[in-house]
Amino acid sequence: MAKKDLRFNSKTIHGGQHPDKAYGAVMPPIYQTSTYAQTTPGGHQGYEYSRSANPTRTALENALASIENGNHGLAFASGLAAIDAVLKLLKPGDEVLATNDLYGGSYRLFKRVYENFGIIFRFLDMQDAKAIETEISHATRMVWLETPTNPLMNIVDISAIAKITKQKGLLLAVDNTFASPYLQRPLELGADIVMHSATKYLGGHSDLVVGALVVNDTDLAEQLYFIQNASGAICGPMDSFLTLRGIKTLHVRMQRHCENGEAIAHFLNAHHKIEKVYWPGFESHPNHAVAKKQMKGYGGMISFVPKGGNYADAIKIVEKLKIFTLAESLGGVESLAGHPASMTHASIPKNEREKIGVVDALIRLSVGIEDVDDLIADLAQALD
Ligand SMILES: *Cc1c(COP(=O)(O)O)cnc(C)c1O
Repeated sequence: MAKKDLRFNSKTIHGGQHPDKAYGAVMPPIYQTSTYAQTTPGGHQGYEYSRSANPTRTALENALASIENGNHGLAFASGLAAIDAVLKLLKPGDEVLATNDLYGGSYRLFKRVYENFGIIFRFLDMQDAKAIETEISHATRMVWLETPTNPLMNIVDISAIAKITKQKGLLLAVDNTFASPYLQRPLELGADIVMHSATKYLGGHSDLVVGALVVNDTDLAEQLYFIQNASGAICGPMDSFLTLRGIKTLHVRMQRHCENGEAIAHFLNAHHKIEKVYWPGFESHPNHAVAKKQMKGYGGMISFVPKGGNYADAIKIVEKLKIFTLAESLGGVESLAGHPASMTHASIPKNEREKIGVVDALIRLSVGIEDVDDLIADLAQALD
């Protein structure tokens, strides 16, 4: 059986991997080197300088391509460095249509950096895919979407958007950080570029900051590789090794994230002190049908609003939690809680925030893989 034909739960361990050529090491060695000896000028074994390529990074890039079922993987110093490389495909005057409740760092990079270079960004609610059709102009080059979105778990129909972008000749890029390829593989749904903050579920242990891109098209891969090498925001060998190690357990971690997430979503939904729970697994979620169609499960990300709660109540709850750590980020084995209004979304003005539903009392959970009864007990005592 060729490795490309393996099922997902085997690809996480074997996809694109082979024992190291030098001594047969089963795990890829950390090639902590900047340069490689040449026998004659240009006489090397495929590696000449570690910005251009490094064997540990190559092993990671092959694994990334395999798990997203794409042809080419690229690993970067952070998720934002990966997004930065995608934006460098554009020229002044080009326009990007993006989802309106975007990751804050992506929004900042778009508005505060790339707008200065003449790239135009417009932010739309893409939950109704058809709505983007009328928004496409002669300048539009790319659609950038996230699903599920942060922190309200809105779902965008990737294949419906891909149909429109294909017909109009636009690039479709999907930030797949929240779902991970275990739950959803955008290239299979028609996207051109998949992006990850591997800092989150792919790494899975909150011990690194890494970014990734995966594409199918060879020309596009060559352009992105050119930008990666020209700009230089590459993933180092140690971080490549750690990300690879994380990917090997992605499927077992995600299975548990989904199980724990489901139990906690239902616990919160039934709790008398809770006003609203955002989780795409509920049949009452406005885009549940799309989530069910394009995702294998509903993940471990949940947001909720305590009944009649305000800013101070939300802070009190997150401070009372003992197992859930109050911290930014998500996707690690340990459970985290966050307060978007004062943390991830603090830079967005209050009225802008509240317009999209990020109210003062909203709390976001990244449900980890601990014993779910301990997690529920922790939430119960904090809510009491
Ligand atoms: C964290 C995150 C990013 C940015 O990734 P970094 O690795 O922190 O640079 C982008 N998109 C989403 C959805 C994220 O959660």
